[in-house]
Amino acid sequence: MAYNDCVDLAVLGSGPGGYTAAFRAADLGLTTALVERRPTLGGVCLNVGCIPSKALLHAARVVEETREMKAHGLDFGEPTIDLDRLRNWKDKVVGQLTGGLAGLAKKRKVEVIEGTGEFLGPNQIRVTGVNDERVLRFAQAIIAVGSEPVRLPGLPEDPRIIDSTGALALVDIPERLLVVGGGIIGLEMATVYQALGSRTTVVEMMAQLMPGTDTDLLRPLQRRLQKQCENLYLDTRVSAITATATGLTVSFDGPKAPPTAEFDRVLLALGRIPNSHGVNAPAAGVKMDEYGFIPVDNQQRTNVPHIFAIGDLVGQPMLAHKASHQGKVAAETAAGLNSVFAARAIPAVAYTDPEIAWCGLTESDARLKGANVELSRFPWSASGRAQALGRTNGISKLVLEAGTGRVLGVGIVGHGAGELIAEGVLAIEMGATAKDLAHTIHPHPTLSETLMEAAEVFFGTATHVHKRSRK
Ligand code: FAD
Repeated sequence: MAYNDCVDLAVLGSGPGGYTAAFRAADLGLTTALVERRPTLGGVCLNVGCIPSKALLHAARVVEETREMKAHGLDFGEPTIDLDRLRNWKDKVVGQLTGGLAGLAKKRKVEVIEGTGEFLGPNQIRVTGVNDERVLRFAQAIIAVGSEPVRLPGLPEDPRIIDSTGALALVDIPERLLVVGGGIIGLEMATVYQALGSRTTVVEMMAQLMPGTDTDLLRPLQRRLQKQCENLYLDTRVSAITATATGLTVSFDGPKAPPTAEFDRVLLALGRIPNSHGVNAPAAGVKMDEYGFIPVDNQQRTNVPHIFAIGDLVGQPMLAHKASHQGKVAAETAAGLNSVFAARAIPAVAYTDPEIAWCGLTESDARLKGANVELSRFPWSASGRAQALGRTNGISKLVLEAGTGRVLGVGIVGHGAGELIAEGVLAIEMGATAKDLAHTIHPHPTLSETLMEAAEVFFGTATHVHKRSRK
């Protein structure tokens, strides 16, 4: 076992949280080691999450848009799919980004150590690589080991039962696909495989898809999925899966449970749990909660002041941009800067078709909390750009503080909602009011105008929607 000189900062896990933290720390002058068990940097996000899923969703969108243009006189015919080339392209996108990170780590003199890390004590991590083992001593550490998919107990060991990583591997296009879990990841994968030709069924145990999402935002997506998917079962659980030579026989449970059916593949998208079990946090004195999340303060410190934790590991929302923001806070705090995680809004996006995005206070949360808010909506059917795109199935919605008109939340459903939501996040962070949005000149014709018009609807001054003016 080799012993290393003590580094100022050891970062465990190289996802968007870990690599951002390591790079920021190195930029601030700390000697930094980044421990990662995968052969490439970037964590779930770059390797088996955000990036490969968005590459495949782009392919799905091209398929859908070209199909839709048939009705408007542009017929490309049905696509022929060269699966090897599509997979290679997706892998190349991932490879370029993960390779880029390796280059950036080198330039910043971040020492990348490949292997699985676990704490031996409050200032030591043992890293077990493929061929060797070494002990890394550190003055401070950031735990950024992320999360992994929830597994359903009692299922047969069968390669036809896959998780999101298996789905992104794009081994083939199953004829009959069952997606178990109607959350964001399940619906994104259903969008991909449905567009590529799978007869797709989605089953969700709760009464609505993406539970917790405002129902007006969900409706356009649900309608589209209902048309495209073979079946969409709500309030329904999978009770058993039996592997046979011809497929996977699935039984369902629930008030409106359908009969047993056979599928070629079952994709489990049941949520994610923190990866904390493998790092031996107790050896460093770091406490975890009953679910395996590591509690932190607003500077990302755990109960052990020189050890920080960030990203999926510290709780919801499990999103890459939250992880990277927390990574910067932890690294800056470790370097002695006065940095805090004080975000007023963390955007969330389902990159489905249409996309759904929200930030800040949602309408459903406002109702649950009994908050004194006013709502203002602009339907995309009144947007020139949405009409020109053939994508009028959208809404832009503002959740405003009653009395002041301060923007507390923004929700959007529609084409490109994931890009548009950034304006809402900025509005909330800047303490903007509906008047600020209404008086900001937006380029025409764009979908961004729908946020301005939602604000104008509030005042009754919207040109493209008739509502009596407040003054
Ligand atoms: P992770 O990215 O999970 O990285 C943790 C790293 O730690 C991993 O590389 C792991 O190998 C390593 N590790 C774990 N244990 C050890 C150990 N003991 N020793 C050494 N290394 C270890 N989020 C978004 O914001 N937008 C999206 O569009 C989006 N799409 C997604 C699509 C899918 C299919 C999935 C699965 C997730 C998606 N997410 C998305 C979520 C996003 O990927 C995560 O929130 C994000 O990756 C979390 O970052 P992290 O740094 O906390 O950890």
